[in-house]
Amino acid sequence: MGVLGKLARKNSLGNVKTFNMLGIQQITQETNQKSKINNLETTKKVLNGFLAVAKQKLLSGESINFKGYFTLKRLTTKPTGSKNCAKHEKSLNEFKQANKGKGIAIFAKSAKFKGLVQETRNCKDCQSKKQQLIKSTKPTNRISLKVSKEF
Ligand SMILES: [Zn+2]
Repeated sequence: MGVLGKLARKNSLGNVKTFNMLGIQQITQETNQKSKINNLETTKKVLNGFLAVAKQKLLSGESINFKGYFTLKRLTTKPTGSKNCAKHEKSLNEFKQANKGKGIAIFAKSAKFKGLVQETRNCKDCQSKKQQLIKSTKPTNRISLKVSKEF
């Protein structure tokens, strides 16, 4: 089942019969009626203002959530490198090596692993390494649109 099929089950996107590409003009006309503004010029100003603000926010790397409708998210490059300090990266790797092929359930149950994770959370070096990693991501020219559950 494709993405559209999945969406159709979760929300009302499945009711679409034909696919049209609508432009600002048509959306402005319909918004003017639906909003009862009853002034095409005013509606146009509001919509253009809305689009300009949305564009500006996305360009500055912010995401926008229209609750009940959809979320627009500026995508970033994947952070590369370790999110732990050298000492903890070594202990984590040693643990992973010793428990190779045992699956994620073993990790979750292991007191030693839990202890290690807790240690990294309290470690100042791990924290700054993680911050560096977050800072190293850059916004890309891609934006994702995700519809809300109740769309
Ligand atoms: Zn550390």
